[in-house]
Amino acid sequence: MNKTRHINIPIFIPHMGCPHACVFCNQKKISGAHSRQTPMRVKEILEESFSTISEKDDVEIAFFGGSFTGIPKEEMVTYLKLAQPYIKAGKANGIRLSTRPDTISPHILNILNNYGVTVIELGVQSLDPEVLLMSKRGHNIEDVTIACSLIRNSGISLGIQTMLGLPEDNYEKALRTAKAVIELKPDMVRIYPTLVIKDTLLEEYYLEGKYSPLSLEQAVEWCADILLLYREAGITVLRIGLQDSDTLESSIVAGPYHPAFGELVESRILFRKMVQSLDSLQFHNSKKIIIRTCPQLVSKLVGQKRANIEAIKEKYSLNEVVVRADLEDGEFIIDMA
Ligand code: SF4
Repeated sequence: MNKTRHINIPIFIPHMGCPHACVFCNQKKISGAHSRQTPMRVKEILEESFSTISEKDDVEIAFFGGSFTGIPKEEMVTYLKLAQPYIKAGKANGIRLSTRPDTISPHILNILNNYGVTVIELGVQSLDPEVLLMSKRGHNIEDVTIACSLIRNSGISLGIQTMLGLPEDNYEKALRTAKAVIELKPDMVRIYPTLVIKDTLLEEYYLEGKYSPLSLEQAVEWCADILLLYREAGITVLRIGLQDSDTLESSIVAGPYHPAFGELVESRILFRKMVQSLDSLQFHNSKKIIIRTCPQLVSKLVGQKRANIEAIKEKYSLNEVVVRADLEDGEFIIDMA
């Protein structure tokens, strides 16, 4: 049967398996899941979720928000077992989970393989030793390299999550981290600009003036450069910026938050490409241009509050920029009016 939609059934396990809290992390606030997870509750979530999901959907059961492989083995297996009836019945394709690099071993991977885990997303955050130390991650770069190699050899797909703008991070380090991540050959990545969340050590640092988050503009610029690197390397970028939850926005103390952050980044990339095209055009006395694009790209191309169009008008002293959504595919074509 051809599956139509991909659905993750998210099961949040806030901070379960984590040896301590990293400076930036408060999973209860980020995910909106306030109580400790229990097998009983997971059983209920799965029953509720599968009662509304069509057999045509491509479903994965996703344990997020903690260090799944750091949970004591028997408890971890209890959770994995709860997913088995759905995998065996063909209702779910497998399990994906997020975890820490220093909780991966051949023995753990063997267990995960036996219970149908298809994707492991490793919280790597940075590949700069100072950033890892200042973020109190509690693992080093070697842990990451070993974990990635073990996961790749296990046949389970590898995802890597990174953060930008952690304490002691800078643009060069963030770029070096992205290049080092590419060397680790992940199947997919997520990029999260660091936000200052309530009730974290990072909030204390921020309030004491010891930490400054990236501005929204910096975060968009850094992410645009890094997204292009991953795309050139053929790595799927699953997400840029934290997923909204009931509690996320009210939990943010400071930092480059925007509810459509990923769209801002895509929009910036299109802006750069339009500028490149315009720089190569001879304007003569033309004060009007027509940008033709396809319907799916119009909002990204125009930008939030028409930011891209207004910036182009100003940069090239144009009176009018007309946008037409009349291409069937491709990004854009610019014509002189
Ligand atoms: S970042 Fe990951 S390892 Fe650190 S506290 Fe949060 S969930 Fe746990």
